[in-house]
Amino acid sequence: MTMLDIVSVALPVPLSQLFDYQVPTDGSLLAPGMRVEVPFGARRLIGLVIEWPRQGAEEVRLYKPIQKVLDAAPVAPADWLEALRWAASYYQHPLGEVIAAALPVVLREGRAVGLVQRHLIQLTDTGRTALHTLPARSHRLRRALQAVEEGTRLDAASRRRALAEGWVSETLTPPPQPVIAQGPELTAAQSSALAALRETPGFVVSLLEGVTGSGKTELYLRLAEDALAAGRQVLVLCPEIGLTPQLTARFRARFGPVVAGFHSGMGDADRAQSWLAIREKQARILVGTRSAVFAPFANLGLVIVDEEHDASYKQQEGFRYHARDLALVRAKSANAVVVLGSATPALETLANAKAGRYRHVRLDERIAGAAEPVAQLIDVNHYPTQHGLSEPLAAAIERHLVAGGQALLFINRRGYAPTLLCDACHWIAPCPRCDARLNLHRGEGVLRCHHCGYVARPPRECPSCGGKSLVPVGEGAERVEEALKNRFPGRRIERFDTDRLRAAGKLEALLDDVHARRVDVLVGTQMLAKGHDFPALSLVGVVNADQALFSSDFRALERLGQLLTQVAGRAGRSAASPIAAEVLIQTREPKHPNLVALLRDGYGALANTLLRERADAGMPPSAHLALLRVEAADRGKAEAFLSAAKAVFPSTRSVQLLGPAPAPMERRDGRARAQLLLSSTSRPALQRALSAWLPLVAALPGVRQLRWSIDVDPVDLF
Ligand code: ADP
Ligand code: ZN
Ligand code: ZN
Repeated sequence: MTMLDIVSVALPVPLSQLFDYQVPTDGSLLAPGMRVEVPFGARRLIGLVIEWPRQGAEEVRLYKPIQKVLDAAPVAPADWLEALRWAASYYQHPLGEVIAAALPVVLREGRAVGLVQRHLIQLTDTGRTALHTLPARSHRLRRALQAVEEGTRLDAASRRRALAEGWVSETLTPPPQPVIAQGPELTAAQSSALAALRETPGFVVSLLEGVTGSGKTELYLRLAEDALAAGRQVLVLCPEIGLTPQLTARFRARFGPVVAGFHSGMGDADRAQSWLAIREKQARILVGTRSAVFAPFANLGLVIVDEEHDASYKQQEGFRYHARDLALVRAKSANAVVVLGSATPALETLANAKAGRYRHVRLDERIAGAAEPVAQLIDVNHYPTQHGLSEPLAAAIERHLVAGGQALLFINRRGYAPTLLCDACHWIAPCPRCDARLNLHRGEGVLRCHHCGYVARPPRECPSCGGKSLVPVGEGAERVEEALKNRFPGRRIERFDTDRLRAAGKLEALLDDVHARRVDVLVGTQMLAKGHDFPALSLVGVVNADQALFSSDFRALERLGQLLTQVAGRAGRSAASPIAAEVLIQTREPKHPNLVALLRDGYGALANTLLRERADAGMPPSAHLALLRVEAADRGKAEAFLSAAKAVFPSTRSVQLLGPAPAPMERRDGRARAQLLLSSTSRPALQRALSAWLPLVAALPGVRQLRWSIDVDPVDLF
């Protein structure tokens, strides 16, 4: 009887199991973490070896053989695979899909990739002589040699000839070395914060709470310097592509070429190069968005999560991981220092700090003089708005522009208006596929659904009564922009939203104009609220704060507090501003206790109130949640599935089930959505229950006719 080796492989398929294959008999060596190409049904898939090969008996002939071994060594260090296995189990997601999400596209597709080696090409003595003795007609070669001397590239043919003649020599460039530029002298507050952050080496989590402009980034740079000096690597996570270039540039200015970037704005090849550079220790610092948390660090010593409260750290579809939480897992196994930075920490993080699990370090003041602006409410019951602008807000803009300041108006909605209404019968343009209204995008001349992407031409007359008076109601960024242009002719008004700035480089160009003070008023959605540093900005106006006050989303008030604080933080960053900074917030609810508390006592006070409310309601961080979502052809099917799922839930008193209930937006993209909420005060109990339960859910009859998913630690319940 011949013995064959078999090996378990994780494949990118939605099944939570590994698949066994025969090891090729050609002597290929296999180890966990190596990519292999295997037959799967009629397809060929790229998978990752998960366990060491083991000997199987005769029946292993039933397993198909591996087609191709793609790597000679694991694609990443062992703790990388460990972290992915942990994540697969914690988020209840198939390991093969987790791996696929963690690998750069080119590796996932099975291509052979290596770090591009840079060669240093130099003239030899013979080459230098040749440069002067080459006959005049060899001008092409002469020019090429000249180019080498000047450090520019040689074309392939000239390079070959020059190498053959011994005119040039080629050596691999040594890996880049960090250069450490001098930073500013720390303020007293920064020095004591830094001392606190440095206090214990190794895995410790610190919350660095400081308003925008208080000098947090400078402390990140100092800690990175420590890590580099100790020969270790640094991961810097940042919530948005838009902010990555700015942060990368700051790290590069300090540390030079050892800083690599990683975000979805980069091409696949560049991303793979950054990934490999981290693995090969050629890059020592990686600055990137969410998925940078999966980089194969060889020797991680420091993890920084900037704007740690930001919801975009949570992946909202497929493998629904939270990059901040995974960063902690990676830091722990590498015994790395962690700093979570924010002006408005997530309630989870604050709770951990209050419980003493995280060190709480504060930077209370802005660097040098730039005082924090005072925010005031404008009661729009009193001062009605026109196209989103109340008279006091418009007058304030005027005042700031005349004084040489810059203004930013924040509005949380794209398009021209969220509603198209018939004046006569009150018909409202609905999305045929969702429980939602269509937004009017006047610039494009369309009605668009912001939930499913449905697009239609605006009707000329009311489909319900035939009336001719269809009016846009409410306001989006486009409308506010138009109103500003009418009110301030001759001023440059620019709108910042994804509709306009999708094209690569457009945002950067516009930001340059803002910095050069060629823009007077910025109108923007979410993308303007975060991190950007606008030194001349003196006025921030919030067009409408009310939506969040009445939202059913349990995080709405936390988000509102964060958002208003962040937007307000854009104003008055420079002490040299020609006019004192102001923040004005329009609302119909000037007496709303949460809004009043936020303005009077700040985000910290609001957070304390919200933490108490969450505790009373049994919501995070006092409890841990998981959400089973389902989409079906109709409500009956969706709820029947959830009822069946509930019926097979292992009975445990430590996990509560809520539902089935329709999703807050029940119909979306033509499908009925429902959900079942699980909550527990014990994370391990919730994990145990999920592990026992989900295989039963996956085996329910009719499960293939629906779309379902589990979301562990959901950031919203929609
Ligand atoms: P944050 O990250 O909290 O928003 P930054 O670190 O970006 O704050 O600091 C705000 C501004 O102050 C930046 O322009 C930065 O270069 C500058 N800055 C930070 N620390 C100092 C310091 N110790 N001395 C002088 N300028 C500083
Ligand atoms: Zn009508
Ligand atoms: Zn829709």
